[in-house]
Amino acid sequence: MAEIFDPKPVTVKGFEIEERILKAAAKADDMCEEAFREIDKVARYNGEKVLKAFIDHKVSDGCLKGSAGYGYGDEGRDTLDAVFAQVMGAEDALVRHNIVSGTHALTIALFGLLRTGDKMVSLTGAPYDTLEEVIGLRGSKNGSLADYGIGYEQVELTPEGKPNVAEIFQKVKGAKLAYIQRSRGYSLRPSLTVSAVAEIVKAAKGANPDIIVMVDNCYGEFVEKTEPIAAGADIIVGSLIKNPGGGIAETGGYIAGSKKLVEQCSYRLTCPGVGREAGCSLDQNKRMYQGLFLAPETVANALKTATFTAAIMTQLGFECRPAPGEARGDIITAVLMKKTDNLIAFCKGVQKGSPVDSFVTPEPWDMPGYDSKVIMAAGAFNNGASIELSADAPLREPYAAYVQGGLTYATGRMGILCALQEMFEKRCLKLF
Ligand SMILES: *Cc1c(COP(=O)(O)O)cnc(C)c1O
Repeated sequence: MAEIFDPKPVTVKGFEIEERILKAAAKADDMCEEAFREIDKVARYNGEKVLKAFIDHKVSDGCLKGSAGYGYGDEGRDTLDAVFAQVMGAEDALVRHNIVSGTHALTIALFGLLRTGDKMVSLTGAPYDTLEEVIGLRGSKNGSLADYGIGYEQVELTPEGKPNVAEIFQKVKGAKLAYIQRSRGYSLRPSLTVSAVAEIVKAAKGANPDIIVMVDNCYGEFVEKTEPIAAGADIIVGSLIKNPGGGIAETGGYIAGSKKLVEQCSYRLTCPGVGREAGCSLDQNKRMYQGLFLAPETVANALKTATFTAAIMTQLGFECRPAPGEARGDIITAVLMKKTDNLIAFCKGVQKGSPVDSFVTPEPWDMPGYDSKVIMAAGAFNNGASIELSADAPLREPYAAYVQGGLTYATGRMGILCALQEMFEKRCLKLF
């Protein structure tokens, strides 16, 4: 049967999104216009920054080729480190596919910089879940920082979820390393903008000029025109299957900062004496270069998807953090789902609207490193890549779904509409 010609299709046939959801989406589109213009400006600036770094460091066709074995003299790897450092505004960087995750990158940096008898202070309250076992706050402590005699303290956030500057000033005295988490992680506190990071750094260094300030930069890269190094941080750390891998890097992580500190981390990354000089890149260089090149644009798409999510979910009666119009320091939108059923329906719907494994049903499971069961929707090209549209949620109060990613805006937006459709069909959505 011939299709009837429609000059103005709203969505592709076959998605079958409820009319009232589409109406809410159209309203959300209008709400987003101004924010999108800002996002595009930041993406353009960051894109130029990346291009300039590629040119300045003479990235060559040879750089894209990999190495095997020990990887001595891997020009592609070493040039990528320099390009990445320039983009982050840092003196030096280690960018490696064999850093297995963000948690691993953070662990390398912490063990690289801290020694027995030293103390680490988290300035932004409880760190991300997986760091608890690294620090030795939960579990067996075996192999943790605590196991090596490294102390830990944290400065709780204020009731509004803001850094407590007065207490930071007190607690950093006598500490070796101050730890700042830029992103909200699995919590409802606001993410930190780079200027908010600058304020914390100022307080910490004011009280203790020698303190090393380390920033967990996961989900923050390219959200703004500058990175936390510009705010005075000494070292920043993140994952390549989040923002700076651009959705192209297949795995990996990075550590960027001052020459001296990055060198120290390199001895923990491989071995004392060997450091950064070994570690073959296999065939990963090209993907890491290309991912970094695309990252500002990919992050813009993720930010648009995040902004749209906050706009439409708020409209439909679900409180979001950040709320529409609030400042963003990361790509996450936390949606307060109120009930387990809502949460599960939403995540299942996101999965249904994913490019890979759309036919699979996510179930809550005991994910390693996490305290409660977690449900994750991630129909991603790279397993677990949360720069791709993903929604994860620990099944605990306040039943928040943490939504992030979206390689392209069209697909990220439709993924969210599929999630709403699933909620509607499971009677988890009231429409008027
Ligand atoms: C994702 C994330 C981590 C850990 O990264 P993994 O790659 O999941 O190990 C740490 N901190 C924050 C804020 C994160 O978002």
